[in-house]
Amino acid sequence: MKNIYSFNENFTDGNKNNLDLLGGKGANLAEMSNIKIPVPPGFTITTEVCNYFIKNNAFPKNLPSELKSALNEIESIMNQKFDDSNKPLLVSVRSGAKQSMPGMMETVLNIGLTSKTIPGLIKLFNNERFVYDSYRRLIMMYADVVMEKSKNISIEGGIRYQLELIVEKEKKKKNIINDYDFSANDLKLLSNKFKSKIKSTLGEDFPDDANTQLWNSIKAVFKSWNGNRAKHYRKIENIPNNWGTAVNVQAMVFGNLNDKSATGVAFSRNPSNGKNSFYGEWLINAQGEDVVAGIRTPNPINKDSYLSTNKNLVTLENSMPKIYSDLIKFKNILELHYKDMQDIEFTIQNHRLWILQTRNAKRSGFAAIKIALDMIEENLISEVDALKRIKPQNLSEMLHPNIDPEKEKNATLLTKGLPAGPGGASGKIVFNSEDAISWKKNGDNVILIRNETSPEDVHGMFASDGIVTAKGGMTSHAALVARGWGKCCIVGCSELIINDSNKTVIIKNTLLKEGDIITINGNSGNIYLKKLPLISSNIHLNQYFNRLMDLCDKYKKLAVRANAESPDDAIKAKEFGATGIGLCRTEHMFFLPDRIQSMQEMILASNKDERCAALQKLLPFQKDDFYKILKNMTPFPVTIRLLDPPLHEFLPNTEEQISLLAKNLSISKQLILNRIDSLKELNPMLGHRGCRLGILYPEITEMQIEAISLACIDLYKEGYKCFPEIMVPLIGSLNEFKNQKNLINKIILKNQKKFNISFKFSIGTMIELPRACFVADEIAKDADFFSFGTNDLTQTTYGFSRDDINTFLNYYIDNNIISKDPFQSIDQLGVGKLIKIAINNALKTNSKIKLGICGEHGGDPSSINFFNEINLNYISCSTFRVPIARLAAAQAVLK
Ligand code: PEP
Ligand code: MG
Repeated sequence: MKNIYSFNENFTDGNKNNLDLLGGKGANLAEMSNIKIPVPPGFTITTEVCNYFIKNNAFPKNLPSELKSALNEIESIMNQKFDDSNKPLLVSVRSGAKQSMPGMMETVLNIGLTSKTIPGLIKLFNNERFVYDSYRRLIMMYADVVMEKSKNISIEGGIRYQLELIVEKEKKKKNIINDYDFSANDLKLLSNKFKSKIKSTLGEDFPDDANTQLWNSIKAVFKSWNGNRAKHYRKIENIPNNWGTAVNVQAMVFGNLNDKSATGVAFSRNPSNGKNSFYGEWLINAQGEDVVAGIRTPNPINKDSYLSTNKNLVTLENSMPKIYSDLIKFKNILELHYKDMQDIEFTIQNHRLWILQTRNAKRSGFAAIKIALDMIEENLISEVDALKRIKPQNLSEMLHPNIDPEKEKNATLLTKGLPAGPGGASGKIVFNSEDAISWKKNGDNVILIRNETSPEDVHGMFASDGIVTAKGGMTSHAALVARGWGKCCIVGCSELIINDSNKTVIIKNTLLKEGDIITINGNSGNIYLKKLPLISSNIHLNQYFNRLMDLCDKYKKLAVRANAESPDDAIKAKEFGATGIGLCRTEHMFFLPDRIQSMQEMILASNKDERCAALQKLLPFQKDDFYKILKNMTPFPVTIRLLDPPLHEFLPNTEEQISLLAKNLSISKQLILNRIDSLKELNPMLGHRGCRLGILYPEITEMQIEAISLACIDLYKEGYKCFPEIMVPLIGSLNEFKNQKNLINKIILKNQKKFNISFKFSIGTMIELPRACFVADEIAKDADFFSFGTNDLTQTTYGFSRDDINTFLNYYIDNNIISKDPFQSIDQLGVGKLIKIAINNALKTNSKIKLGICGEHGGDPSSINFFNEINLNYISCSTFRVPIARLAAAQAVLK
């Protein structure tokens, strides 16, 4: 087995494709050497060695001899020798896995400085200050990366922090601000203080031997692969444990040598706005981490990199024009070579430029989209490459305000819930809808905190900037409603102990009162006890957004529809490119305050007459809404689902709400309480909902079909060829479906005859119960379409209640019982298998049946990939996720 791959100006045996073996950093160093970019010579120890070391706690037998000859190559190029007292060579050791793991980069610089080599290096560069500056940096990094991590000692803040305290103390004593104001002698003393502190806290001497420093650093990097931080990160990012990390050993070049030396980081394009202009920062007389450490404000490399904080500082372009033009030359070569925006680390030693690293740069959502589309125009990449490169998250960032990631990085997490609605929100907390509305009217941003929400809360939810609930899962009422509006929302925050009457909430040991400010991240579920700034979507949205969406449509197979239930939502859905409504939840049409009461009256009715009276009140709303929605969506289809109200979501549950309803309906509170009691179901999600409602109370279906018919007849008269697809919810048998289908046909025929207008319609059903999947061949004979209701199908397949999953979900995920929330991302193995069974069965008896999905999974990219694979005709998701679904549908084809 070949353990080491060298890279230098004479000979390089790796290239950019050796990611598995050399890691990202190593592969790119090899590639840069191949294309004659000035990279300090070095070598990469492979990921295979890492895996060997982890398994055997020892290095492969021939590693020392391979390392020695690789080191010899560096020595001959640099004309210096490692561990030599005359012309000592120093090296760096850095980790580098296949995929960059931020915060996991183990780095030790200046390896090889010892009492034996220090005098030689001072002589070589004729600069004592520089050598002791390098020495104290080595001691700090080595103590942190190698020594502390190998021990089981708890040191307050960690050894690096303890050593930094010493630096701060010395600065105060000397009355200096910047590190570079330390004299050679100061730095020498500092090094001695560091060594004493290390001995006293870690119980061991800092090694005064170059080879010990080198080998222990290599070991430490390999060991770091199995450290807690790395394991945790891999779990989040789904990185396999067996990748291992490579180790890069490279000759040191020194940005901290003198004032003709510097170090910096540059991006080939602007990473925040995507502009094609070179962007970066540099620091004179500095090394490695100084640029990112924030101790000194870095200078801009050019005018395009000016910020309010640095525009008085000299640019590299002005200060070292020749170096700057070399840097531009190399960044052009690198971007052209990698065909992607690069993040480049460089060091200048005595007016000579070295490139230390290049990699594909991280960028904002908008920048990612702009750069990918610009690169097509520049003939740098193909449309397919551009589409593959853009992440759904990039689009989400563009469509919603998000927390400034730089500020969020340093904020302390208060608690966490399920990420139910996108973007970020910051505001004062309130505990009921009325307060949300009145505080909002007074100009405050508000976050509504509830145990769970019910339709009574909808107007308050609408007024709020964000919503947090203690209970509920990803398909709970709050989650569905908030997502429908594209509103930031976190559900299932089980650490919240809410006291509605006192208007307080206890989270862990913190008591929050009405008016306290929190910030919530709806993409991650994180909650912070402070105001964090939000970044709004970019003003260039339309131009790039439309171009990207057109490109998606060119490649995708799946049609994308929206789950929408109001005329305005229908307009928005069309704007976002939905080619139909895949789910109009008709019960959601009654959330508005002027309608909810008629709906509650209908549910509470104790006999048919009372129910018919309430339904007559609902009819005009329904007809009017259907008319507008169908009109706004023409010529695309609108799937109208017959009423499927989980009754518990529609009944008042607080004392106050019950009293109010009694007053409004002019009936006694006791009557309502009795009725609620008689309607109470132990398992309401499996209770009197779905088609059961229309079967037991046909007058409900009749009213709805009447409303659809009248709306269509009006529209046809006006020349709109609308197309309703009438959908029966939650069926488990052919008989249930037939019962409703016959009724639907009867009412439509009656109206068509009466008005002498025939309009186009179809009748289908939701498939959201396992039994329906098994008997899909039977049902398909009679159905024009199936729409998989994956929310209920997940609920009934797993036996997990949609509303209560948060009580055990985190435990299940943390303990690897399931890998992710099945209400968020489709469980392909179980629920997915049932869908495949249903499709196979259905196609046997009805080859023309239209197949779609309308559960929340319709907006989840990895689920969309699955729906594309199983050849569904369409997916339907909440309006604000339509663009993401279009992108994911295109990417699914290109995978
Ligand atoms: C479903 O169950 O997947 C569905 C879309 O219906 P609802 O969420 O309204 O129950
Ligand atoms: Mg359902």
